[in-house]
Amino acid sequence: MKSVNYSRIPIKRFNPEERIRGLDLPTIVPYTLDEVVAESSRCLGCGLCIQGCPARIDIPGYQIAMANGNIQEALKINFEKLPFVAVCGNVCPHPCEDVCVLDDNKGSIATRQIKKYVSENSEKYRDILKVKKNDLGGHPNVAIIGAGPAGLTTAFYLSINGINVDIYEATDKAGGMMIHGIPEFRLARNEVWKEIDHIISYGARIFYNKKVGKDVLFETLMEKYDSIFIGIGNWNPTKTRIKGEDYANVHHALEFLGRINNGEKIEVGKTVAVIGGGFTAFDAARISLRIGAEKVLVLYRRAKEDRPGYPSSNAEEELEEGEEEKVEFIWEVSPIEYTGENGKVNGIKYWKNEMVDNGKGRREPVPIKDKEYFLPVDTIVEATGQKGDFSFLPPGILEKLKMTPGGDVIVNQYNMTSYPGIFAGGDITNKRKDIISGVADAGRAAMGILVYLKSIGKIERVPYRLTNYERGPYSTTYYEIKDERAESLI
Ligand SMILES: Cc1cc2nc3c(=O)[nH]c(=O)nc-3n(C[C@H](O)[C@H](O)[C@H](O)COP(=O)(O)OP(=O)(O)OC[C@H]3O[C@@H](n4cnc5c(N)ncnc54)[C@H](O)[C@@H]3O)c2cc1C
Ligand code: SF4
Repeated sequence: MKSVNYSRIPIKRFNPEERIRGLDLPTIVPYTLDEVVAESSRCLGCGLCIQGCPARIDIPGYQIAMANGNIQEALKINFEKLPFVAVCGNVCPHPCEDVCVLDDNKGSIATRQIKKYVSENSEKYRDILKVKKNDLGGHPNVAIIGAGPAGLTTAFYLSINGINVDIYEATDKAGGMMIHGIPEFRLARNEVWKEIDHIISYGARIFYNKKVGKDVLFETLMEKYDSIFIGIGNWNPTKTRIKGEDYANVHHALEFLGRINNGEKIEVGKTVAVIGGGFTAFDAARISLRIGAEKVLVLYRRAKEDRPGYPSSNAEEELEEGEEEKVEFIWEVSPIEYTGENGKVNGIKYWKNEMVDNGKGRREPVPIKDKEYFLPVDTIVEATGQKGDFSFLPPGILEKLKMTPGGDVIVNQYNMTSYPGIFAGGDITNKRKDIISGVADAGRAAMGILVYLKSIGKIERVPYRLTNYERGPYSTTYYEIKDERAESLI
């Protein structure tokens, strides 16, 4: 008799020596349908993972659907909370998998990889979802600032509820960091365009090259619209400000990745050093190999086990993918100075650090200053963080907007800021700073905006659910908020 195999179906990657030969050659080999069905069938249906997903997607619901090979139903369940199924199927850090009860036993359910299959095998979302627009008794106007995942998700859930949505986007493309930041070898652009086209097919308009504060004033939006959602992301680079940062071939990772992702060629020479340890540092390192670097080193100030995202299965996968491609890591170092000649950088002076437990939780890196080290390099990429740029807000609004000491906007349960009618979400509000958290913010904000619009008499009703399409038997949860309770939160 054949016994049931409860082990996780392994996720394969393409050969690292081959995949680094092109900017758009994918890293992960998709599951086959048989693999998806087998993997989904391992799900015990406990639902712990729902708590791990910031958007609280009904994961067991779509595992049951896929265990039955029902791709369309799995797509519909995802869309209750997430209009970026392909994006998250490829690059979500999948915190849901870290809380799976099977994690310590035979391997957590490969939720992200299953989502990838669902999206890549659902050609026409509109035909599958057959969304019926909710009629809320009014069609007010809402402005969204920024066409990143947070702004676009808000646009989706508002549009399908009959709200007129205008999105103001500073660049010539929608997608935010999904296009300008994340490299194509992790996220195929046709998948992103497919999802953005689907979102705007419900009526939201995008005005490109319209930076609020420069091309259109925030005050004008205040006059013209009934509510505003701010989803501008963190686009202001945080630099190290160490000596030598002005050399021509020292880049900030946002500028570096943005230029390469938009088709520009950058000469990096033989050796590239990346300063940092998060998503952006790994992407800057791996993209450098694909544009000609022979040796890439990541220098991070903390220890390997203190890097951003650790401990998580995503952090492990990220490191494995980099190591397979021969990215080298130098942990526990502090750059002192970038050296150079004729305006070009040629090396980094650095100290080694020791990690000190100061009793405040995360260990602190403290430089050991009695010995300096030197690393010859041709290019340096600083992946040392970024912040939101709120200079577009008039002083009267900025003063009233409550912020954290770190510069994030403070919002309530519905992602409304301290200024009534102005909502915010994505990297400028949440702590995790990933796509699924921005999507979760946007779902809450969309509901909050509807509640606000009703409170000012622009619509007659607030829906129980943001989506309104037929679903099959597999969904195990609903996200419904009763009208009266919702209003009391605003
Ligand atoms: C290199 C890199 C790799 C990453 N990898 C991952 C990953 O693997 N998985 C993951 O989940 N997350 C990843 N992230 C994080 C993720 O991309 C962000 O969390 C997410 O994009 C934030 O969404 P957002 O909508 O808040 O902002 P953004 O995506 O930053 O979009 C903001 C948009 O607002 C526009 N904008 C800004 N100011 C204005 C203005 N004044 N007027 C009009 N428009 C404006 C910008 O042009 C942009 O289009 C990565 C980030 C980077 C940089
Ligand atoms: S979006 Fe991410 S966290 Fe949520 S269920 Fe999918 S993989 Fe898990």
